[in-house]
Order: sequence, then structure tokens, then C-alpha cells
Amino acid sequence: MRICVSIVEESVEGAARAVAEAKDGGADLVEVRFDLMPSLPTDLSPFKALDIPKIATLRTASQGGRFSGTERARLGLYQSCLRSGFDMVDLELGSPLLERRDRELRHAGVICSYHDHQGTPSPSSILERLVLASAKETLPKAAFQVRGAKDLLSIADAARLYSSTGKEFVLIGMGEMGELTRLRADRLGCAYTYASLAQGKEAAPGQLDLATMRSLSDDAPILGIIGHPLGHTLSPRLHHAALKEVGLGGRYLRLDVAPEELEDFLQVALEYDIRGFNVTIPHKEAIVPLLDRLDGSADKVGAVNTVLLQDGQLIGHNTDAHGVEMTFREMGVEAKGKKALVVGAGGAAKACCSFLSASGAKVSVYNRTRQRAEDLAKRFRGCRATDLESMTLERFDIVVNCTPLGMAGFPSGLPLPESVLGEGQFVMDTVYNPPETELLRVAKAKGALTANGERMLAHQALRSFSLWTGKDPGVEVMYRALREASG
Ligand code: NAP
Repeated sequence: MRICVSIVEESVEGAARAVAEAKDGGADLVEVRFDLMPSLPTDLSPFKALDIPKIATLRTASQGGRFSGTERARLGLYQSCLRSGFDMVDLELGSPLLERRDRELRHAGVICSYHDHQGTPSPSSILERLVLASAKETLPKAAFQVRGAKDLLSIADAARLYSSTGKEFVLIGMGEMGELTRLRADRLGCAYTYASLAQGKEAAPGQLDLATMRSLSDDAPILGIIGHPLGHTLSPRLHHAALKEVGLGGRYLRLDVAPEELEDFLQVALEYDIRGFNVTIPHKEAIVPLLDRLDGSADKVGAVNTVLLQDGQLIGHNTDAHGVEMTFREMGVEAKGKKALVVGAGGAAKACCSFLSASGAKVSVYNRTRQRAEDLAKRFRGCRATDLESMTLERFDIVVNCTPLGMAGFPSGLPLPESVLGEGQFVMDTVYNPPETELLRVAKAKGALTANGERMLAHQALRSFSLWTGKDPGVEVMYRALREASG
């Protein structure tokens, strides 16, 4: 993949140093963003000796930059740049200088750029922008804000259509989900893509740093997590630590996918060659009928938290049940023959009931919406639904909270009557943020053995990672990443 590093320094000297650093870091070309300097420089001599293709750019405010000067000032700077060793200049679509390029910018390569920071239009509109931007024998570059899966599909469609002309182009999706277009610039057929010199030096939203882009060898997997709204998630930290540990490049992306775009996202996964992704609230059950097939684990649980792409097929797995199993094992708790109470009836509760039922526990399920508890109980041997009143009359050996109650951003408080908790129990909360919920605090005070959701998180992540990459970084890597995340 050819990479152009955007240089965002305030002085010519700083920019020249950054250009040299970008060259050493493996950049193929650089773009100096003169609009981000406090004033237009006059002495450009420090660039002369730097032997790497250079683009001069003065991005106007309407296109996401800071240049507010005249076209005459722009021409003056660009002409000085060309005399100081620059090879190309960036002109925005509609710039009057495009008409005068033969006269005033002779011998310069010209990139004709277009930016839309609001959204991504239809493939035909993108195509129209690219065609207009290439009208003066210029290299067309178009960048659009990506708002969701549909926008990513529009960019891929437009790239396919424009590629058939055989002409070079650059097409970029901006924003968090737009990262996919940067990582897959080669696959889209782009002449090159943009990167920052380092984290914190981004010239556009979603720009990745040079080292990250360079670490992406052909077999580096692109992974991610889909959910909506995708609030706080530690999964990227765990998987990036795992990728580093096994020496694979690759990226684990946060992908906010609204329910109405779930099907489009599956198309995105195939189109952009995503190796696999995690699935979280609210898609774990909704995704089941949309996949090509389910592996035994997902079939048993009836929910999917991991999807693997293999030979063009989308295969659903469930690694949450494994996470629950490993929590019990690490805590030294035997479930066989025990009386367990599971609170909640969503994906996590299903995974929990799957493990407890397979272990030979007698499981009672309590849920705010009683019908869901009954439906869940029917799936698993030894499971039945219960209500608040009956629950308080029983004594449970094991209690597991599978609701988001107590999680940061959700209502606090106990998910069940306090009298259900008692000495000698094992109480697990699938919530891991905060590390100690009110449920665990009260249970511990009453003499129960407790575990939060960290072990489940670490083990489900490890198994998902191994499914995608065939590698086992070891659970300690996941625990280390969790400790680092919690400071
Ligand atoms: P889900 O499928 O959306 O199910 C949520 C469940 O919680 C439903 O039974 C829902 O009841 C109940 N619930 C939601 N808000 C509630 C409230 N205010 N009061 C009472 N009950 C409420 O979600 P999920 O995927 O099962 O996740 C549930 C929890 O497990 C989350 O906190 C998640 O962080 C945690 N989890 C942890 C891990 C881990 O690795 N540690 C993995 C997966 C999940 P209704 O049926 O009435 O809506």
C-alpha cells in the first residue's frame, strides 16, 4: 500500500524534520499542510534537500482546513513550493486555478480534491465528483464522512466503478468507521492513502498513524466489534494487546452499527475483507438468521458474540459460554448438582444457562420480562423461570447477574432482592465496569465468594482471537491489558 503522510507542523523547520521522519518511517510521499501554519511561509529552502515526493496543500475552511486567503496567495505559495522541490499541489474542486494550471503551475502534478465532512452520497454522486475532479488531467481525490455501513458500501461501489476507467484515484472515508477505507485502500484500488506521522498528529478524522499502517502486512487481520450504541468497550485494548503479542499487525475496529444497518454491515465485512468481529448489544440474537451457518457453540446458546469469515461465508460462534465456564474453573467453583439463579434473559444469560445446564446445575431464571425468562428456560435442560416472590423463598448456591444493572452508564442498585444473597454462595456479575458493582459489594459483605465479568471478558476474547487468527497469545496477555486499562 502506498502511503502519503500528512505533515501538520506550525513551522517550515518543524515540517521539514517531520518530512525526514516520515521518509525514514517508510512513507512513499508526504503532504505538507501549509494551511495549518500560523502564516504562509516565505523561505521554503529546508524542503529542497528532502528526497521524497512532496505535495503542497492549502486546505480551505469549507473543506476542513484553515486557509482563508486569496487564490492569488495560494498560487504564490504553490509556485514557491514548486521551486523548492515540491512535485505536486492540491487544488480543491472548483478552484479557478484549475483552469490556469497549464500556464501558472507548469510541470506540477495536480491533485484535485473534494471533501464532504457531513456524509457520504450515493455511489453515482461519488463517481460524479471523481469524474469532475479528473477533468483537467488531475489526480482525483475525494473524502467523505462515513456515518454507517451504507456509506462504506457506497464508497466500495464507487471505487469499483471508477477503477474500471483504468485511471488513478484516491477515495477516503473519514471518521471512526472510515478507518476501514484507509486500511483497505489497496483493495479499493486507490493510488495511495493518507496517514498521520504519529498518533495525535492526524490531519483528518479517522487517519491512522504511519507505523500502524506499515505494520499491516497482507495477512494482518482486520477485526472489530459491532454494537449500538457502542459505548465504552475494552475489547479493542484486549485484541490489540493480543495482536502485538503474537506479532501480527492488524487492527480491531469499533464499528457502530445501527439495527437497521446490520444486514448492510455483513456485506461490508465481505466487501472489505474483515477476518472476524465480535457482536454485542443489541445484535447477538438478531444476527443469527443473517449468517450462513452457526458453529455448535452458537447453536447451543442461541446467540452469537463472534463471527468468523471463512471462504466467503459468515460463521457465527459463541465464546461467552466458554468465558463463563473459565470463570467458574478459575474460581474453583463446581456447578454440578448446585442450585443456580440467573438474572436476565438476553445473550449473556443464555450463555450462562448453556454452561450451567451442561454442567448439571438446577437453574432458575429471573427476568424483568417474565416471558423471555420462560422462553430461555425452555431451551436448556434443568432450567425453569422464576419470579421475585418464589426466588426469595429459595436458597441458591450460585447467583449470576446477566443484566446491565450496576454497569457504568446504567442504573445502579441490586438486580435482585438482597435477601437472596447469603454466606457460602458464589456470586458472579457479568458486568466488569466498575470492577465491583453493588451486587458484588453486598454479596462479599454477606460472606459470598465473588467474581466480576473480567475473567469472562478475557476468556471470551481469547477464544474469539484464536478463532480468527489460529494463534493463542495466552490469557495473561488479556489480563495484563485489562489491568493497564483500569490504570
Ligand atoms: P441483552 O441481550 O440486551 O440482555 C439484557 C438483559 O438485561 C435482558 O434480560 C433485559 O431484560 C435485562 N435488563 C436490561 N435493563 C434492565 C433493567 N434496567 N432492569 C432489569 N433488567 C434489565 O444483553 P446481554 O448481551 O445479555 O448483556 C447483559 C450484560 O452482560 C451486560 O451488562 C454486559 O456488559 C454483560 N456481558 C458481559 C460479558 C463479559 O465478557 N463480561 C459478555 C457479555 C455480556 P428484558 O428482557 O426485560 O429487556
